Amino acid sequence: MRLSLAGRAENAIQARILVQLRDEGPLSKAQLADRLQVSRTTVAAEVARLAEMGLAQEAGPAASRGGRRSTLVDLSQEIRFVGISIGATGLSVGVTDGRLSVLATRFKACDIRQGPEAVLAVALALVREVLHEVGVDKPMGAGIGVPGPVDFHRGVSVSPPIMPGWDGYPVRDAVSRELGCPVVLDNDVNVLAVGEQHAGVAKGAQDFLFVKIGTGIGCGIVIDGELYRGVNGCAGDIGHIRVEEFGPTCACGNSGCLEAFSGGAALARDATAAARSGRSPALAALLEERSELTAADVGIAVSQGDAQAVQLIRDSGRHIGEVLAGLVSFFNPGLIVIGGRVTGLGHALLAEIRGVTYRRSLPLATGNLPIVLSELGDEGGVIGAARLISESVYSP
Ligand SMILES: [Zn+2]
Repeated sequence: MRLSLAGRAENAIQARILVQLRDEGPLSKAQLADRLQVSRTTVAAEVARLAEMGLAQEAGPAASRGGRRSTLVDLSQEIRFVGISIGATGLSVGVTDGRLSVLATRFKACDIRQGPEAVLAVALALVREVLHEVGVDKPMGAGIGVPGPVDFHRGVSVSPPIMPGWDGYPVRDAVSRELGCPVVLDNDVNVLAVGEQHAGVAKGAQDFLFVKIGTGIGCGIVIDGELYRGVNGCAGDIGHIRVEEFGPTCACGNSGCLEAFSGGAALARDATAAARSGRSPALAALLEERSELTAADVGIAVSQGDAQAVQLIRDSGRHIGEVLAGLVSFFNPGLIVIGGRVTGLGHALLAEIRGVTYRRSLPLATGNLPIVLSELGDEGGVIGAARLISESVYSP
């Protein structure tokens, strides 16, 4: 069993070296000195200190650029981060190296409504499995995403509408105690947004929105390359923007919220109604088979050419597009990424969202605005959660 050393950057130069190595891979000391605008002597001293702390290591001579040969620096091969991404109906966990490449991962169906003790026990059992698989006792840190509002500074969930029993539960401290390492907690949408920024279609994007359409709907906001959480951590909670005054009742208690029209639970509800009323033969057949319909079943009915299922997706996409058009006018993003389980509904949903968003926004804002589906799947949450804890370890 290898043991990762505990530690974190001691100053801003060390932090910048670690982030460069995470995002760019091994660099020579000369390259680091150029990028950080500091002397090679300073780089050499800080790299030596990072090596003592088990965070970086020398990795042989760099290719010569003429003149004095420089030495390559890499992140320590011993660094291991854990990423835990908890959704409403399932959770993913994984272990990454210091550059956030996923080394081992697991997914398990799990209902968030079982409460924090039961759900975290499932997550921690999977974490121990993946740690064992890669031969690590104690990770350097862990990141967690949960599907509801989070007080980022206190590391607790706050009044989550779809998570009974989680209000005020000290998720961060409980997991930190179990794993014996520092932990950060954030909402799942923020976690997915930074995962996308690190390894997905938003790689390198500075100003973008990540819209998660799962059981709930939320939006991660990245401004100037940094996640924007708002004063209380609930920025981007777009699922509760009202789209129609006399709409269905939402899990939050209000009526007509976007989530109550277009979230995964709303789609399942409407699909069941369509099946029972006889309007959709394909959904009726699926309901007979499984006794309960999910949003994914709407996708299956669409692939069978069921007109009512297509209409459900169109209505859902239209409401999402209307809200996004408002966000585009307000925020002027360079990219919108759509992710979450409902993206299994794929291009029918995306086409409707795009159509409405482009039609309802000013041409200047959408002239060069890609709206694309995430391609990361379950790994996005793991990478994002690992990235959040790396931000903490790789900062002074
Ligand atoms: Zn609501």
